[in-house]
Amino acid sequence: MEELIPGYLWIFPLADREANVGLAMRSDKISERKYNLKHNLQRILAENPAFKDRFAQAELVDDIRGFGLPMGSKKRKLSGERYMLVGDAGHLIDPLTGEDIGNAIFSGVIAADQAIACVQAQDFSARFMRGYDRRIRRVMGRELQLGYVFQRMMFYPRLIRFLMKRVYNNRFVMDFLQDIYADSQKNWVKQVKRPLFWWKVFWGGGKREAGPEW
Ligand SMILES: Cc1cc2nc3c(=O)[nH]c(=O)nc-3n(C[C@H](O)[C@H](O)[C@H](O)COP(=O)(O)OP(=O)(O)OC[C@H]3O[C@@H](n4cnc5c(N)ncnc54)[C@H](O)[C@@H]3O)c2cc1C
Repeated sequence: MEELIPGYLWIFPLADREANVGLAMRSDKISERKYNLKHNLQRILAENPAFKDRFAQAELVDDIRGFGLPMGSKKRKLSGERYMLVGDAGHLIDPLTGEDIGNAIFSGVIAADQAIACVQAQDFSARFMRGYDRRIRRVMGRELQLGYVFQRMMFYPRLIRFLMKRVYNNRFVMDFLQDIYADSQKNWVKQVKRPLFWWKVFWGGGKREAGPEW
């Protein structure tokens, strides 16, 4: 749905034939377009051919509520004297997917390690705490950076459609993206600068194994 770009509509099935349904969009675009998320969520579900039959008998069982998602689009300072910011407080949400449960838990683990190191060294200074920032950047920096690149690419729907076709049918690209997200592709920035990478994207890379159709 182009009106939601760069955002999305989600439907999470719940128990007892209920579902959590919502819209997400970047806050600067909401203000720029004067886009009313609550109103448009109801309009889309009632009118869009992809949803209207599915939601024809649906009943609203709760208030529609809004939440802000602090995205990790920029590099931010995550600690200082006697404090560390974890999860949403540290803006660690993936800018593409809006997800952060994993990063919130992981940053908590890293913060606990740092806290142990601080107690052992009896050093709670901003300088010593920087070890936390460095580790977060090492573990999550690439993923957040890539998420932001993809999020900005969403402004170009034609490019996205073209790339999705390539990605979907190209085993090399699928594996490459999966490795970045799984953190096992350490030097992806270097790789994408190589002509061979782009040759594999457009002309090679092997076929994807047959899977479910979207
Ligand atoms: C609608 C929606 C859908 C989402 N869907 C997904 C998803 O599908 N996948 C995903 O990975 N992420 C999703 N997220 C993001 C995810 O929920 C958050 O990124 C994640 O919960 C962050 O964890 P957190 O521990 O940092 O913060 P929170 O989960 O917000 O926890 C912070 C806690 O601190 C408490 N608190 C606040 N102030 C105080 C205070 N002064 N004193 C004591 N306690 C306080 C709050 O009550 C809360 O319990 C979604 C978010 C929203 C809003």
